[in-house]
Amino acid sequence: MPELPEVETVKRTLIELITGKTMERVQVRLPRIIQKPDDIQQFEVLLQGQTVETIERRGKFLRFILTDYVLVSHLRMEGRYGLYQAGEPLELHTHVIFHFTDGTELRYKDVRQFGTMHLFPKGEDLKQPPLHKLGLEPLEEAFTFEAFRQAIGHRKTKIKPLLLNQAYIVGIGNIYVDESLFLAGIHPEREASSLSRKELAALHASIVQTLRESVEVGGSSVKSYVNGQGEMGMFQHQLNIYGRESQPCKTCGTPIVKTVVGGRGTHTCPKCQPLKRKRAQKKSQD
Ligand SMILES: [Zn+2]
Repeated sequence: MPELPEVETVKRTLIELITGKTMERVQVRLPRIIQKPDDIQQFEVLLQGQTVETIERRGKFLRFILTDYVLVSHLRMEGRYGLYQAGEPLELHTHVIFHFTDGTELRYKDVRQFGTMHLFPKGEDLKQPPLHKLGLEPLEEAFTFEAFRQAIGHRKTKIKPLLLNQAYIVGIGNIYVDESLFLAGIHPEREASSLSRKELAALHASIVQTLRESVEVGGSSVKSYVNGQGEMGMFQHQLNIYGRESQPCKTCGTPIVKTVVGGRGTHTCPKCQPLKRKRAQKKSQD
């Protein structure tokens, strides 16, 4: 599943590919992708003549900013965009086609068919589902340590499911949560409220570092993720812990353990990420 870095990469690629293009017509081949409006014909008609001003991102959602509307798109498991020339053969699983006036087409493909699109009048999309209750953007300046601490520091929930909850922080999925917790030396089952100020600061820094680095490398997920220009992402080669079950920890050599936390496959180094705080362990030894 694409996470924030992958969606950010798709966004940047799409900005280069389709900014300034005007939709001549839009063709929906799989109605279930379109969540709003209910009437698919209306979706197609409203988009006619709309020009792509830019593309933004909120969490893992793409926001196509058009002349009068905002198209909100979530790729979910396997959704992909590609730019084609009109007349190029349609590939399997092509569900929505945006025909531009210059003879190119933006095609949305989705093998799993879980992706969604919502169309809103400009100015409405951030006030309504699915975007209205999203949490902090971890790559924006407003994501300070204080904002992070206030959002999650007092919660009596395991830290990993908390970080995956889009109501608090957006865009971090299973891979980058494991990477961030490993980098910060924090066990995924620690209760958020049990983390010291120092641990929270380390975690905040790790999240920012992990996401920034992966955006720089172009973002990818473990499955064969392809960005908007058909290029494979490269980040999977740099993962420190995710997907490395039984392999030696890159820091201490201890075999990586895979467990399930909050229903998600979770990778931990038992030595670098102790479940009990070091201070508590010392006390029990005394
Ligand atoms: Zn280790």
